Formats: sequence, C-alpha cells, structure tokens
Amino acid sequence: MEIFRTRAEVRKYLEQLKPEGRVVGFVPTMGALHQGHLSLIDAAREKADVVVCSIFVNPTQFNDKNDLANYPRPIEEDIQKLQEAKCDMLFLPEVDEMYNSTDKWHIELDNLDNTLEGEIRPGHYQGVTQIVKKLFDIVSPDYAFFGQKDFQQFVVISYMVKKLGVNVELIMCPIVRENDGLAMSSRNVYLSAEDRQHALSLFKALSTAKVNFDNLTIPQLKQNAIEYLSNAAGIEVEYFEVYNGDTFEPASTKHADKIIALVAARVGNIRIIDNIILNNT
Ligand code: AMP
Repeated sequence: MEIFRTRAEVRKYLEQLKPEGRVVGFVPTMGALHQGHLSLIDAAREKADVVVCSIFVNPTQFNDKNDLANYPRPIEEDIQKLQEAKCDMLFLPEVDEMYNSTDKWHIELDNLDNTLEGEIRPGHYQGVTQIVKKLFDIVSPDYAFFGQKDFQQFVVISYMVKKLGVNVELIMCPIVRENDGLAMSSRNVYLSAEDRQHALSLFKALSTAKVNFDNLTIPQLKQNAIEYLSNAAGIEVEYFEVYNGDTFEPASTKHADKIIALVAARVGNIRIIDNIILNNT
C-alpha cells in the first residue's frame, strides 16, 4: 500500500493511473479502524480497480474539543489493517495540509443539517461536507463508500454531491455489528464493560421497533422505544425518531420505500448513534 501525506502526491499518483481507465473507489475515514470500516474497503475492492482510503480526524466536524482531543489514533494498527484488506493507497494528511487559516465554508443543506445529529451537534455537517468536498477534489473518485451507521451523513453528502454537481457515485454499505448487536464504532473502545452492556439497549429498541413494524402505528413504535430507553439502565436517550429515509423527514405514513428508525443516546461519557431500516426483511 502506498502512503501519501500531501494532496499533490495523491493527485500525481492518481493522474498517472486515470488515463489507463482505472476505476477509483474511495473510503474516507477518521481512523481507529474496525470491521465496519474494513467492510467499506471490501465493497470498494469489488467495484473499483484502485482503492483509496483516507484517515483524517477532521477538526471542523467536532463541536466538542475534548472529543477531538481524545479521539483514538492508533495509526500503526490502522496501516496494518488496511494492508491486510488490500487497500492500494492511504492518504494520511496533517491538519495544515487540509486547512489554511483563510478557509471558509458554508453550504446550504436545506435544513438537513439542523435536525437530529445536526441539532445536537451544531456545525457538524458543515464540517463533514467541507472535508468530504476537499477530499473528493483531491481523489476524484468514481465511487465513494459510506456506512449506513451514519445514515444522516449519507443523506447530507448525497445532497451536497447533487447540489454541487460532483461527479461521483455514492454507495451506502450496511452496518457492521458485534455479535451481540452493538454497532461497531471507533468510540466503543471508551465504553467501560458496564457501559458496553448498557449500550445494547439501543439495538434492542431498534430491533423491537422492526419486529413490531407491521402491527403498530409509527407513533406507537416511537412511544414504546422511548419508554423502553428511558427506563433502561445507564443510558440517557437523546432522540428516537422514525423517518422517511428518502425525504429525511419524520415518517407520517408507512408508505415509503425506506422507513428508518434512528436513535442517539449518551452511555457514560460516550455518545452512541444507531439506526435500522424498519420496512425490509
Ligand atoms: P468514521 O471513521 O467514523 O468517520 O467512519 C468512516 C466511515 O465508516 C463512515 O462512512 C461510517 O459510516 C462508516 N462506518 C463506521 N462504523 C460503521 C459500521 N459499524 N458499519 C459500517 N460502516 C461503518
């Protein structure tokens, strides 16, 4: 695997490959890689000739300085995992390489950045779109791979790509979970053994909503989940919502291609998000 630390090096390397008609697949990450990330690399391998991963802990998407300072950065392990997953290129820039002091960014996101995660983390999706646009400009991928784990992020990036006319096809990959159902996340390493158990309530609430989808109304599904989560030990629920996955608005009927339940909670000091598509098997 080739490792690059500057934009210029990445561009130069890819420019040599592109005329050969090679298809480029891109997986942006913040590192501390787990099977969820590696499933995106596998998906990229399937579709593309050249797989590019980036690891960059993007400061502009953090609204909590401690979270940014404490974000895990096990870079040597990450490199090894990417090598084993047969990733071709890793882009590993420093903050100065990606931002300068005059950098400004604001994109109108049609209020997608003011709901759910956006409401709780002001500015988060401005930071996400800013860095993803910069990375797309450098890598010019044919395909870019994102996890359903961050469903709202996928919606927001899809909106940006359409609005700015970026020439890339976005692909959403399923959530990879631990055996007991906990969605894999880089922040899970900070859960104590007890919190790790408490965190399972999120997946239980989502799974129950899915099982009951045909029999209960949407308000009933929501109410049951919120009641369950409010009584569950060791967690502080922030939201449990049922959305139309296409419009990303609260689902008012069950007649939509994709109805999705999304949940966020604090477990100990860690925020956990998860979701499940309710109307598929
Ligand atoms: P992050 O490093 O947290 O920014 O995540 C990088 C990419 O990995 C994003 O597209 C995430 O949605 C995706 N991802 C994170 N966790 C999982 C998971 N458990 N399953 C699938 N994809 C994931």
